[in-house]
Amino acid sequence: MYKPPLREIRFVMHELLGDERLERGYADIDYSGELADNIVEEAAKFAENVLEPLNRPGDQQGARWTPQGVTTPAGFREAYAAYVEAGWTQLPVPSELGGQGMPHVLTSAVEELMFAANMAFYLGTSLAHGAVGAIAASATEEQKAAFVPRLVSGEWMGTMNLTETQAGSDLALIRTRAVPEGDHYRIFGQKIFITYGDHDLTDNIIHLVLARIDGAPEGVKGISLFVVPKFLINADGSRGAPNDLRCLSIEHKLGIHASPTCVMSFGEKDGAIGYLVGAPHTGLAFMFIMMNAARLSVGVQGLAQSERALQQALDWARNRKQGRVSGQPVAIIEHPDVKRMLLSMKARTEAMRVLCYYAALELDRGHREADESVRATSLARAELLIPVVKGWCTETAMEVTSTGVQVHGGMGFIEETGASQFLRDVRITTIYEGTTGIQSNDLIGRKLGRDRGAAMAALIEELLAETGASRSLTPYAEALTTLRDATQSVLRMHADEPARAQAVSVPYLKLCGTVIAGALMARAAAVAEAALSAKPGDAFYEAKLQTCRFYAEQVLPEAIGLARVVKGGAASVTEAKPDLI
Ligand SMILES: Cc1cc2nc3c(=O)[nH]c(=O)nc-3n(C[C@H](O)[C@H](O)[C@H](O)COP(=O)(O)OP(=O)(O)OC[C@H]3O[C@@H](n4cnc5c(N)ncnc54)[C@H](O)[C@@H]3O)c2cc1C
Repeated sequence: MYKPPLREIRFVMHELLGDERLERGYADIDYSGELADNIVEEAAKFAENVLEPLNRPGDQQGARWTPQGVTTPAGFREAYAAYVEAGWTQLPVPSELGGQGMPHVLTSAVEELMFAANMAFYLGTSLAHGAVGAIAASATEEQKAAFVPRLVSGEWMGTMNLTETQAGSDLALIRTRAVPEGDHYRIFGQKIFITYGDHDLTDNIIHLVLARIDGAPEGVKGISLFVVPKFLINADGSRGAPNDLRCLSIEHKLGIHASPTCVMSFGEKDGAIGYLVGAPHTGLAFMFIMMNAARLSVGVQGLAQSERALQQALDWARNRKQGRVSGQPVAIIEHPDVKRMLLSMKARTEAMRVLCYYAALELDRGHREADESVRATSLARAELLIPVVKGWCTETAMEVTSTGVQVHGGMGFIEETGASQFLRDVRITTIYEGTTGIQSNDLIGRKLGRDRGAAMAALIEELLAETGASRSLTPYAEALTTLRDATQSVLRMHADEPARAQAVSVPYLKLCGTVIAGALMARAAAVAEAALSAKPGDAFYEAKLQTCRFYAEQVLPEAIGLARVVKGGAASVTEAKPDLI
């Protein structure tokens, strides 16, 4: 059973982050805390009642390939129809494109609920948002009219076709070809690992495909973006002939079994008809427009599966009896080590949530604040935080979901309990949308490098100022100072010998996540303390203080070890001989 953590979500959005500041920036919609609560409550009902019951059966049944096309597990089609009917596809889409234009902080909360209930289901629908973003950012009015309304309404779904066998992290190696023909192109090539590349949820699928126009320059500068529909569209807008593309097979995976991961073949006959989006050779830039939202969303997937693992582990630990205290059998939650595991899961999950929502709010402010300089600061901060959210939340989620298995003992390893599904499903999150290594390269190379650490320094100073003179916040002040020093080391290494910085970039990313999310947990503790003085004994705030204390005493000290690795661990990698590893 999944209990949507509504009180916790409200606390982070309103009490901790003060998302009502966004109300000023939304001339086109009526954003308010109350509206946000209503939407989150409705999303919670949908997640709990419609999506969650399909999570386990979907995992067991999996998506199926047939020569006629891919079928999703039983119940997915009905759930998708209900999802569309309720208007959820429109939530994050800007109002000028026919959506509801809700801010990232709210859509992240909704995503948390949906991903928690059924990650494999929601992956497909969340891709359509990305497709709308890419088309809207770069397409002609005619292309927008042809594709956007039906993607926004949910009548069609979208995909992202980037990866090829030889081109994974390195998209410069893409070989798929685009040959000009009149007002369109013919696409030839094979893509692998395409999420929801084929399925039976909608009667057309809009593929966004990265390909190289014949004669284009080598490398990333020669990649263009194309819209390639599964079925062509007639002049009157109706569905036309099938395009020259098909799903050759689907992968057998560790997790997210219900999400079809497709090998896609384009142009086995005359070439699939594709329409260029934006100028030739600018495809990757458009994909990067969507990258921030997509990577934030993957961080939220880590948070969502962690929350599931936590709830399940807590339930198990309260009921499973082993060992005795004063001669009486006790539930395992009474054992200090089990309590430690549960607190560790809870503290890390709550820390992920504050970090995800904080980054989302900064992204919103970066686009919506009236003051241009506030907008610029917020956007730079959001962009700095996105690789941390993606990398740290997903790496931490693996730890949390694995601890969830541990709390169950042997039964955690047995599929029947469901604990292992969270671990299996979340395992992909450190890999797709750029592995943790790629996130950490982005963090030190692009995000720190482009302003010589200015955005990071400003964030650290702001968080340090909050710790003030309070003695209870001393560990946070120390951790922030440690992060400041480590950042200077990374910047120096990056300037002198980039390989040294890359050798410690993942420990640095983890340090950033541990400390920045930690400082936000300190803020949460301060809010809880103030609330308790007005309302003594309130269980929610008492629990919050208990969790924040655990974070300060058992999680935050990990920063010391990570900082030591960052400052002194590079040479052991750069001087190591690959043939001796
Ligand atoms: C279930 C699933 C769904 C997917 N969905 C999609 C999708 O919808 N669309 C799509 O286009 N793709 C999708 N992918 C592909 C996914 O984005 C890639 O698998 C991912 O980007 C990694 O590429 P790769 O598998 O080729 O690994 P590689 O690039 O070969 O990486 C292997 C290892 O080398 C490391 N590495 C590589 N280059 C560097 C570097 N420069 N610096 C440091 N470390 C490096 C990586 O971190 C990793 O640990 C999906 C993959 C899976 C498994």
